[in-house]
Amino acid sequence: YADRIKLDDIGKKGPKITKDRANRATVEQVLDPRTMRFLTKLINKGVINGINGCISTGKEANVYQADHEGNDGTKREFAVKIFKTSILVFKDRERYVDGEFRFRNLKNQSNPRKMVKLWAEKEFRNLKRIFLSGIPCPEPIDLRSHVLVMEFLTKGNGQPSPKLRDHPFRDIDEIVHYYHQMLFYMRRMYRDCRLVHADLSEYNSIVHNDKLYIIDVSQSVEPEHPMSLDFLRMDIKNVNDFFSKKKINVYPERLIFKYITE
Ligand code: ADP
Ligand code: MN
Repeated sequence: YADRIKLDDIGKKGPKITKDRANRATVEQVLDPRTMRFLTKLINKGVINGINGCISTGKEANVYQADHEGNDGTKREFAVKIFKTSILVFKDRERYVDGEFRFRNLKNQSNPRKMVKLWAEKEFRNLKRIFLSGIPCPEPIDLRSHVLVMEFLTKGNGQPSPKLRDHPFRDIDEIVHYYHQMLFYMRRMYRDCRLVHADLSEYNSIVHNDKLYIIDVSQSVEPEHPMSLDFLRMDIKNVNDFFSKKKINVYPERLIFKYITE
């Protein structure tokens, strides 16, 4: 991002984004002028009031916290996931899009801007499908190009709910409980949503309101994808590896595979 713009510039067009100095620094890190335009749109449409602190900076996306106030004055918190246009990550992702019926006829694959838009769209559509089927996940709210707005899973005070990885388990029973919940949601995702997560792990699930929430679904694929069952085996292995380390007995991977697919 060669030319970054100041958050002050955006304030001239619409409501002001937070002026907090520390936040401004983190926000400016990834926000190129194009991204700023989409954020301005979201603010002007009243989807969000402004963008606050950064929750996560990743290889492929950054996630920010945002506030929302409805017409009736009800307040909500949203998470804004901004996908990065860095070319480096696309090589890695080709295998997910190739063979995806839903995105097959898009001739975008050499244009990073279009690709990143495609990823955001994929995440938004997958999230909708998962949300509508009743599996716990952040509610999808809005999408503008590579900027995705969803429900913020929070434990209060602006703090995000912990990833499964960081959840302080009370006892063995609770570990077993979340293990079973994970397998159950994988099965429902496969059978009800027709989706394989394809990057499922203790990093892409959140413990929120005593339930396991599934996140980060931009790479999820349908069962028709030629590699979907390989991705599913990988997901099962990741889940089993994590729970094995928590000193519980896990089911054989073959058995879980059957439980999910048959
Ligand atoms: P990536 O792994 O591609 O950077 P994720 O979608 O996994 O992107 O988000 C990164 C991190 O941000 C997550 O591990 C989680 O801690 C946090 N996060 C993402 N979405 C939400 C959300 N809706 N509510 C709370 N925290 C979130
Ligand atoms: Mn992730």
